[in-house]
Amino acid sequence: MDGLRFQCQPGCIRCCDVQGFVYLSEKDLKQAARFVGMSAAAFERKYVYRTRHLLRFRKPRHRQCPFLTASGCDIHPAKPTQCRLFPFWPELIESRSEWQKTGRMCPGIGQGELIQIGTAHETASEMKRAYPTMYPE
Ligand code: SF4
Ligand code: SF4
Repeated sequence: MDGLRFQCQPGCIRCCDVQGFVYLSEKDLKQAARFVGMSAAAFERKYVYRTRHLLRFRKPRHRQCPFLTASGCDIHPAKPTQCRLFPFWPELIESRSEWQKTGRMCPGIGQGELIQIGTAHETASEMKRAYPTMYPE
């Protein structure tokens, strides 16, 4: 791929409601906790499920994320890395078919100015740093 077009669409919340998990880095956890005015420990007890290698939000009934509201993300300025970088995830930008498939869900894909593939890779590399166990070298 030479370049990609993407521009998030106002009012859209589709990617927040796709079946899946919202993973956090340790830094994401601290930032989100600070944003909602809780200690990291209290935030983790209430919202986070910790496995041996990963942290993810607990899912409320019938929703994918505890912070998704009808008007959008309740922790937008402190949302986890995977939310902030979507759709510039390594597995999406490295495969034309995955990028196109994601475009059937995300109306922002294919919109906006052309983003050079090198820039997209730079952005995606932050995913690898934030979630090293998901992207082993
Ligand atoms: S689905 Fe795409 S356009 Fe919609 S909120 Fe997510 S990134 Fe933005
Ligand atoms: S944290 Fe915010 S941006 Fe991320 S999935 Fe939840 S509602 Fe969406």
